[in-house]
Amino acid sequence: MISSENLFDRARRVIPGGVNSPVRAFRSVGGSPFFTKSADGCRLITADDRELIDYVCTWGPAIHGHNHPKIRQAVAEALEKGTSFGTPNPYEVTMAELLVELVPSVEKVRMVNSGTEATMSAIRLARGFTGRSKIIKFAGCYHGHVDSLLVKAGSGALTFGNPDSAGVPAGFAAETIVLPYNDETALREAFASNGEDIAGIIVESYPANCGLILPKPGFLQTMREICTSSGALLIFDEVMTGFRLALGGVQEVEGIKPDLTAMGKIIGGGLPVGAFGGRAEIMDCLAPEGKVYQAGTLSGNPLAMAAGIAALQLLKEEMPYNRLADAGAQIRDALLSAAKGKGIPLQVPQTGSMFALFFTENTVENFDHATSSETGHFKTIFHRALEAGVYLPPSPFETCFISTAHDKSAIDRTCEVLTASFNF
Ligand SMILES: *Cc1c(COP(=O)(O)O)cnc(C)c1O
Repeated sequence: MISSENLFDRARRVIPGGVNSPVRAFRSVGGSPFFTKSADGCRLITADDRELIDYVCTWGPAIHGHNHPKIRQAVAEALEKGTSFGTPNPYEVTMAELLVELVPSVEKVRMVNSGTEATMSAIRLARGFTGRSKIIKFAGCYHGHVDSLLVKAGSGALTFGNPDSAGVPAGFAAETIVLPYNDETALREAFASNGEDIAGIIVESYPANCGLILPKPGFLQTMREICTSSGALLIFDEVMTGFRLALGGVQEVEGIKPDLTAMGKIIGGGLPVGAFGGRAEIMDCLAPEGKVYQAGTLSGNPLAMAAGIAALQLLKEEMPYNRLADAGAQIRDALLSAAKGKGIPLQVPQTGSMFALFFTENTVENFDHATSSETGHFKTIFHRALEAGVYLPPSPFETCFISTAHDKSAIDRTCEVLTASFNF
């Protein structure tokens, strides 16, 4: 057996930080990451032969749990025919037809290889379509590691962003206006002073990358109205929420049609896939039809499409959303009552199979509320739960995910473990 410790030692010599995506390194909770050698259903098997009930679900994609037999079979069948063709293939057509059928605002769609590519391409398209340059984003929303979107809030509501990352020229970030989420006044002011220059708003329809933040009633509607009246495009980043809360994502739940939608995660069935789609008139501005360039050697890859199609068809067949929401509510209630029993202030925003923990008295409505909540308790609970066989995301600012493979005994066990972890 090669232990996680041994693997991490080797990894750190040849991979920056030992990981291929930063949050995997456990820096936000302390300690060293475990390595996973296999996964099945709701469980990960670590390199050290521990079994963990998994609430990261590969950061969202694994809504059917790990290694689902139908997805595996679909990939195996596609594999028999070859791994990549470089020409159009039949799977791409089926995938596009499914996305157009299921996502209310999507009339045409293009496949890419990650969520980052989807948001990056969507904002390029919004700029190309409108002939405008500025993009509004909200503090705390993550849209992948796109240069101009790696910007959070400056001091005031209308400050032009400063890059969060070294290597992003200030000029790129200057085209991004960062606003606080759930602040209608700031949104109106931004359009009042920059309206003519704003190509679009990009928003995580339910922000789920700084814990989980839900919109105040009417906030998304207001965004829709302002965009329509000013000629800017509304881009929903549903990379996380798409197919997670309903087949049609937040746009179906809220009854709001964005102009463009970025997708990813679940639509790949565990393989690297992203997509962006929207109104045909806008999508037809893409090359070769139009003047906005966008391309990808492996886009629409047959193995990835086969996995994604199987994942989406399973969701259509099973319609698991009520069942998933019940499990989410059960865990939320267990957490809230454990905290109450200890007199610890806790918020558990939960919708469907997504939930997060904020150790604070008040409802978290934006990034500042989220980042000012207490984080020490989360770290303690994270490590205690992990010790007891329950793997929560290794950061107080990530969302927990439940899959259809989390059966009653896994959920009950999780509630027990989490309750016992509240022993401060
Ligand atoms: C994960 C995520 C992305 C980035 O997707 P990658 O596949 O990691 O590039 C973009 N937007 C949101 C909302 C996400 O959750």
